[in-house]
Amino acid sequence: MQYRRLGQGNIRVPVLGFGAMRLPMLAGSKDTKRRMGVDLAGAIRMMHRAFDLGINYFDTAWGYHQGWSEVIVRKALKDLPRDRVMIADKLPIWLVRKPADFNRFLRTQLRRLGTDYLDFYLLHGLSARTWAIAKEQGALDFLETARREGRIRHIAFSFHDRLPLFREIVGAHDWAFAQVQYNIVDTREQAGRAGVRYAAKRGLGIVVMEPLRGGDLVGPHPPSIRRLWEKLRPGRPVAEWLLRWAWDQPEVSMVLSGMSSMEQLEQNIAAARRSRPGNLTPDQRRTIDRVAAAYRRLRRIGCTGCNYCQPCPQGVRIPLAFQFHNEFGMFPESRDLRLQYRALGPALKLDACNECGQCVEKCPQQLAIPQLLKEVAASLAPLAG
Ligand code: SF4
Ligand code: SF4
Repeated sequence: MQYRRLGQGNIRVPVLGFGAMRLPMLAGSKDTKRRMGVDLAGAIRMMHRAFDLGINYFDTAWGYHQGWSEVIVRKALKDLPRDRVMIADKLPIWLVRKPADFNRFLRTQLRRLGTDYLDFYLLHGLSARTWAIAKEQGALDFLETARREGRIRHIAFSFHDRLPLFREIVGAHDWAFAQVQYNIVDTREQAGRAGVRYAAKRGLGIVVMEPLRGGDLVGPHPPSIRRLWEKLRPGRPVAEWLLRWAWDQPEVSMVLSGMSSMEQLEQNIAAARRSRPGNLTPDQRRTIDRVAAAYRRLRRIGCTGCNYCQPCPQGVRIPLAFQFHNEFGMFPESRDLRLQYRALGPALKLDACNECGQCVEKCPQQLAIPQLLKEVAASLAPLAG
């Protein structure tokens, strides 16, 4: 494993971090209550293997796997030396109603993780709305107090909004790093490339999340995109090029990947071993830029499948509906997709939305979900027959 300096501080992190938000699932499990169907033994095996291969950074959050991620990370890490492992957890700022909530969340998270300190504690998913809550409720004062008490070691934030707000937040505190959604398609959205450079210049580490955009960028691809990927070295997985694109940039300290299988883990680690800043050739960069442009032309809705909008009180399967809509945009002729849609379409409950707006508040991409659902319903309706 290679390690990079986190911003201008003294901490070194692996270039690949283990994101515990897409842990392996038990095949065909309908048991969504017991650990939300996560394959506990498989998840533990993966985290131990990751550690053996040099990944000593594990990223979790209050809401991942509906709260089970933190518990599973504890079970996986209990056999590893605590002082050689870095744990990052996140404060669900959108749930904070009063200052006392900060302590309640941190206390619960430390208990779930079975540790008395976190290496990194992030304000999770900052946007205009959640940043306002953070300021009103005194989040930074709380974090500084917790740091003095030794319950957290470093303070950071993750971000889902626009560049001007990103700049404001970068300047508001002495952050260890900014965690940003950054991949070949999201270079102009959210913090984007300009935000990455801005924060790095000011000494922050840059932690990249969603490098594969929730797996969407890995494929299957329409022919135009497949041809472009094939121009790059054939036989190498697309995921490797997506990760190498991020590692190619010297500003990037670490890339988080939510790996769901041992195979993905091994592939990503092999890619990490081969990657250095400035490692892509100009030709490779140009081809990847063309892939990004082709994707932008095809995708209809910028949903990352993060699932924050779930559950919907009316049972609308929002991420799945958007996924169908996007995949039909990219694969309009796919017979398999039609078959899947015929089988699953009714379960999406597209007509059950009563426009309560709860999902809109939770969506880090700030999608106008109720309106989009109407468009999705209209576009998918002819496929049901
Ligand atoms: S606006 Fe519609 S889709 Fe969103 S939470 Fe409410 S009922 Fe569900
Ligand atoms: S609609 Fe928004 S919150 Fe829901 S999965 Fe997509 S990006 Fe995430």
